[in-house]
Amino acid sequence: MSRRLRKPPCRVPAIFRCCRTPPLRKRRCRNFGVRCASGWAEACEKIGQNAKKTRSAAQAERSRAGQQGGICVNIYTASRWGTIVLGTALAAGLLSACSAAGAKNEPDREAQQSVKGGTEDGAGKSQSPFAGDSLQSTVEQKDGRNVVTNPTSIHVVVNKNRHLPDGYEPSDLVVPNVPFSFGDPENQEKSRMRKEAAGALEQLFAGAKKDGIELYAVSGYRSYARQKDIYDYNVSTRGEEETAKVSAAPGTSEHQTGLAMDVSSPSVGNALEQSFGDTEEGRWLADRGQEYGFIVHYLKGKEEQTGYSYEPWHIRYVGKELAEAVHASGLSLEEYLEESSLAGGQ
Ligand SMILES: [Zn+2]
Repeated sequence: MSRRLRKPPCRVPAIFRCCRTPPLRKRRCRNFGVRCASGWAEACEKIGQNAKKTRSAAQAERSRAGQQGGICVNIYTASRWGTIVLGTALAAGLLSACSAAGAKNEPDREAQQSVKGGTEDGAGKSQSPFAGDSLQSTVEQKDGRNVVTNPTSIHVVVNKNRHLPDGYEPSDLVVPNVPFSFGDPENQEKSRMRKEAAGALEQLFAGAKKDGIELYAVSGYRSYARQKDIYDYNVSTRGEEETAKVSAAPGTSEHQTGLAMDVSSPSVGNALEQSFGDTEEGRWLADRGQEYGFIVHYLKGKEEQTGYSYEPWHIRYVGKELAEAVHASGLSLEEYLEESSLAGGQ
């Protein structure tokens, strides 16, 4: 058994490897609802995925409860396995460390609630300032599709299941005064953004420059017609399934709202690729964008909620108040604007 444990069977973390050993496999795997009759690596993968889902659900739950729960979740996880590996004494120690960490997080929770919480009603129940922007209250059914009812709002959420109304085009598109990765921005559709977002982007670029961060705007507004060209081209070269992961069908692109801009840096040749997220510039954008009203919308680990792969270069203007709140919550924009998350000022 111990010899097996020393040989990593698959990419699943060591704590799950015990499922491969005969005495434990049935019990362990049953716990996760996985049948282990054949294909150990496959079973381990599934267990790993399930555990990952459980962890992210717990983190989301803690975020909803207004906690910065990362430390506690980690320590809790460690303590569970600590019980098996190191014995109860160590586990108890870790749990009390978790409580201490929880107590330490109290000021954060209060700070977060003051960001997210809105006005108090008579019953003492708080109302979120974003209650009117909830996903459920900003959509209607038209011709069998979900169409957003607030296309001009800076809080609008457009995705694969939420279309813009047919023919939507923002009326206030301008070219922000920032460096672009291409020439002649004045005469290109993709250099535009809605006026408020463009002003905020100028401030963000100025703030970045002050911190020694060099950014370039790569792609902003995209009309229905241009999005259709891009989508059709992707389908013809990559096929429909692959295209769906990276490109929006016309009418469902956030770029059509005029509130999104793809941003990159010379450190990755101004390319739109995931390695940008590991650069100093990509990290600055993820850590500081909310101060200027922007969020990195398509986050790592949130693919299920946003419908897209991780895109560290794609920033979306939602205004400072919502951007700060979403960033502090650790949730995706979609998760944050769920009615259940907004209820009671959470
Ligand atoms: Zn984009």
